[in-house]
Amino acid sequence: MENCNCNTHKSLAPRDAEWRDELRRALPAKDRMAIPRVKMRELDPADRLANPTAEVNMGLTAEQAVQEATRCLDCPNPGCVSGCPVSIDIPGFIKNIQRGELGEAARVLRSTSALPAVCGRVCPQEKQCESKCIYHKSKREPVAIGYLERFAADAAAKSAPAAAATPAKDATRIAVIGSGPAGLSFAGDMAAKGYAVTVFEALHEIGGVLKYGIPEFRLPNSIVDGEIDALRALGVEFLRDVVVGKTISLDDLREMGFEGVFVGSGAGLPRFMGIPGENLVGVMSCNEYLTRINLMGAGRENSDTPVMTGKRVAVIGGGNTAMDAVRTARRMGAEAMVVYRRSLEEMPARVEEVHHARQEGVEFMTLHNPLEYLADEKGRVRAMILQRMELGEPDESGRRSPVAVEGAVEEIPVDLVIVSVGVSPNPLIPNSVEGLDVSRRGTIVVNDDTMESSIPMLYAGGDIVRGGATVILAMGDGRRAACAMDEAMRARKSNNK
Ligand SMILES: Cc1cc2nc3c(=O)[nH]c(=O)nc-3n(C[C@H](O)[C@H](O)[C@H](O)COP(=O)(O)OP(=O)(O)OC[C@H]3O[C@@H](n4cnc5c(N)ncnc54)[C@H](O)[C@@H]3O)c2cc1C
Ligand code: SF4
Repeated sequence: MENCNCNTHKSLAPRDAEWRDELRRALPAKDRMAIPRVKMRELDPADRLANPTAEVNMGLTAEQAVQEATRCLDCPNPGCVSGCPVSIDIPGFIKNIQRGELGEAARVLRSTSALPAVCGRVCPQEKQCESKCIYHKSKREPVAIGYLERFAADAAAKSAPAAAATPAKDATRIAVIGSGPAGLSFAGDMAAKGYAVTVFEALHEIGGVLKYGIPEFRLPNSIVDGEIDALRALGVEFLRDVVVGKTISLDDLREMGFEGVFVGSGAGLPRFMGIPGENLVGVMSCNEYLTRINLMGAGRENSDTPVMTGKRVAVIGGGNTAMDAVRTARRMGAEAMVVYRRSLEEMPARVEEVHHARQEGVEFMTLHNPLEYLADEKGRVRAMILQRMELGEPDESGRRSPVAVEGAVEEIPVDLVIVSVGVSPNPLIPNSVEGLDVSRRGTIVVNDDTMESSIPMLYAGGDIVRGGATVILAMGDGRRAACAMDEAMRARKSNNK
C-alpha cells in the first residue's frame, strides 16, 4: 500500500533549503561518520523490578540528540525513508534537531506520523528505517532514528500545548469505532480537516493496545494521554464503554447523523495452540494477563482486579507481546522464562526487548515447544511437557522452520503459563454488519489505496484489516483512510449541490 501524499502529508523540509546545505558543508561526511552512535540512558535493571511502571529507556539529552543528528549524512536518496512504512521525511526532521529547531522537527514528523512520541518508543526501527541507513554499507551502526524521533516529539510536547479548535456547528459527523492507533490517527486527521469526530471505545480507557497491551515500562500512559489530549483540543469527542455492534449498531450511528464511519477495532482475540491442558487453572492468554495488570491495575494497592502472579512463569511465544508479558511477570516477582520454538535469531520481538528481558533475568528456552500442560490435584497447572526442536529448511516466512527432535521431551515445573502465540481480529464488527466483505481470516476487506470497505463510507484500518501488525502500520492506515474519506465526502457534497 502506498502512503498518501495529500497536501497535509507531504515534506515540509525541502532538502535544497540553504540551512540544510550549510549543515552538510559544516562537517565533512567522513568526520560525521567517525562519531559513534549514541547510547540511550537506561534505568538500572535492579531499579526496574523495584519500580515496575518506571520507563526503562530514559531518552537522550539535548547534547546527545544534536550529536546523533550530526551523524546523519542527509543522503540525496535516503534509504531510511524507503524503509519507513509511512515514508517519514527522516533526514528532514533529524537536520532540524541538529540546528536546534525542535518545534520544526516535530512538525515534520507530525506531517506524516500522528503519534511520533509513541512510534519513537515502540516501532521496530532496527527492521525498518534503521535497517536501510547508509551507515550499514560501511559496517557502521545506523543513525539512531527512533531515539531522535522520541526526542523531538517529547521536546515539542513539553514546549507547545496543542492548539484548541471546535468543529463548526454544521460540520459533517464522522464516527470512529475503536481508539487504538488506527482510530486515533484517523480521528486526528479528520478533525484537522474540519469534521465533527466522535470516537466510540468499548473499554473504559482510550488508547487500545497502547494502554491495555504495551506496559508502562515501555510506553508510559502519560505519553498516550498527551496524544489523546491533543486530539481533544482539536475537537475530537471520546465516548467510552460503548461496544458498537452490541450497545449500539451501525444503523444507530447512521440514524444519529454520522455520515462516515471508520472501523479500527483491532485484533484482540487471543489464539491458543489447541494442546492438552490449555483449559487448566493457571493457563491464560497474554491479552488477559496484560489487560488485568495494565488496564485494571491488578497487583497494585487498592485494585479490585485479581491476577495470578505465579512463582515460576512460562510465557509461550517470541513476539513483542511475549516480551511484554514475561518482563511484567518478572516485575510481579516471579521467576520467568520464554518458551520459543525457533532460535533467538528468528524471534520476531524487537532486539531491544530481548536485550532488556535478559538484563532483567528472564530465562530463554529457545528451540522448545509445549506439547501439554499437567495439573495438580486441584486442577491447577503444575508442569509443562516441552518438545525439543531443531531448525530445518526455511518456510514461507523465510525463517528456518522448527522440527521436533525425536524422543527429546522434558517436563518443566511451572505454576503459571501465559500463551502468546498470536491474535485474531475482533469478530464483533465483521460479524454484525450485513454486506461487509470479510476475509477467511476474519479481517475486513478494504480497497488497499483508500481503505474503503465493501460498504460505501465505511472505512477500516489497522489490525482489523491486517490481523496483528504494528502501531505504525495501523496509524498509516488511519491517515490514508482520512485522506480518502475526505475526498469522497467532498465529491459527494459537490455532486449534491
Ligand atoms: C502486548 C502488545 C505489545 C505490542 N508491542 C508492539 C510494539 O512494540 N510495536 C508495534 O509496532 N506494535 C506492537 N504491538 C502491536 C500494535 O499494538 C497493534 O498492531 C496496534 O495497536 C493495532 O492498532 P489498532 O488501532 O488497529 O487496534 P488496537 O490498538 O487493538 O485498538 C482497537 C480498539 O478498538 C476497541 N474496540 C474493539 N471492538 C470494538 C467495538 N465493537 N466497539 C468499540 N470499540 C471497539 C478495542 O477495545 C481497542 O481499544 C503490540 C501488541 C500487543 C498486544
Ligand atoms: S540513510 Fe541514514 S544517513 Fe542517510 S539520511 Fe537516512 S538516517 Fe541519515
